[in-house]
Amino acid sequence: MATILKHAVPGAEVTASLDQVRETVAGVIADVRERGDAAVRAYSEKFDRWSPEAFRLSAGEIEKIVASVPRQVIDDIRFVQDQVRSFARHQLDSMGEFEVETLPGVRLGQKHIPVRAAGAYIPGGRYPLTASAHMTIVTAKVAGVPRVVACTPPIHGEIPAATVAAAHLAGADEIWLLGGVQAVAAMAVGTDTMEPVNLIAGPGNAYVAEAKRQLFGEIGIDLFAGPTEILVLADSAADPFVCAVDLLSQAEHGPDSPAVLITTSREIAEKTLAEVERLLPGMPTRDFAGPAWRDHGQVHVVDSLDELYALADAFAFEHVEVLTAEPREALRRMTQYGALFLGEGTCVSFGDKVIGTNHVLPTRGAARYTGGLWVGKYLKTVTYQEVTDTGSGALLGRLCGRASRVELFEGHARSGDVRAAKAAGDELPW
Ligand code: NAD
Repeated sequence: MATILKHAVPGAEVTASLDQVRETVAGVIADVRERGDAAVRAYSEKFDRWSPEAFRLSAGEIEKIVASVPRQVIDDIRFVQDQVRSFARHQLDSMGEFEVETLPGVRLGQKHIPVRAAGAYIPGGRYPLTASAHMTIVTAKVAGVPRVVACTPPIHGEIPAATVAAAHLAGADEIWLLGGVQAVAAMAVGTDTMEPVNLIAGPGNAYVAEAKRQLFGEIGIDLFAGPTEILVLADSAADPFVCAVDLLSQAEHGPDSPAVLITTSREIAEKTLAEVERLLPGMPTRDFAGPAWRDHGQVHVVDSLDELYALADAFAFEHVEVLTAEPREALRRMTQYGALFLGEGTCVSFGDKVIGTNHVLPTRGAARYTGGLWVGKYLKTVTYQEVTDTGSGALLGRLCGRASRVELFEGHARSGDVRAAKAAGDELPW
């Protein structure tokens, strides 16, 4: 029987204010549709106190901003982008294009075509999420997207120089200092100054994630990548200090970020709780991590690893850190997560910032039906076909006639009949 040593605060579910978020987002999108650039400017002023002459940075401005970034930061950005690029290229290589002859003279094929224009949303409300530029733009470029538009908000009224540098080095074709719903809406529906894109990728807060959700269909989106979540799985071999540090590392994203520990050891649970209480007051980001832990932190003690993995799968969380004696077991046991972090040698922060797997990952249960952002999200997998053998043409034509008439589709049937008749050199009956 599982015991819960710490509950989320009842009523503080991360979805509590969803109705209000939905309404705000719908209003902004409708206004951007109607008033275009004027609405974009009004919401940027309202939500970000930001109204520059132009939201899009010129080549000269980009050059100056990049030059202002310290050398070490640029070198680190390049290193991390190399890791992300290398992993994305492996993903691309794993996506087969093929053509197969299924019957004599019948060739069926599959290929992957990049979208023509992609929007990369790089969050910047609380922190300048520079690494999101690597994740969204490098991956789009590996996929072969010709036009990548990067949007990121100013951070507390300042230009996020490292993020602009990262977007530029990643290969963004346009960089806009614009955030929130107004950025997503402008990229999706277009304005006088913004050519619309076909797909928007990237993480964001509840407003950004909801904007992408509402616009899906009109444009493509990568996935629902909202406020971040961490699940730590620990047995008695785990270090409670590491458990606590890592839970707080994700709680600091914002007050709506759940951090959950599931452990088979009551001792580890109690020690982790004590470590969190000890560490929190000294964290410079305690104003975000504190409320996140207080309202959305949970600690569950279970009786067995079977129970641990079953409960972990039920959470279907974005990040799952496995701090057990045999962490690779999670690969076999779990099916619902955004990314797994196996063993104490790595951590969610490696995935977020440096290691090369993509950090744009499914939240709020989306891991039940999708993985994270990857090169394939920017590609359209399409098929084609060709029939050059008259025998196969006659066979398929007759089959098509019969199959279509079962469905009462006479027009379809006649397209089949024509092929059958031409292949056999017969007269058409009509
Ligand atoms: P953000 O860029 O997503 O959002 C900031 C924007 O929100 C602002 O530009 C503003 O226009 C808009 N906004 C703020 N308050 C608003 C309001 N009341 N009404 C309408 N719009 C409003 O940056 P953030 O807020 O720092 O959030 C980043 C989020 O990204 C965090 O929640 C973090 O957990 C999440 N994240 C998720 C993943 C993932 O893959 N799931 C990865 C990294 C980060």
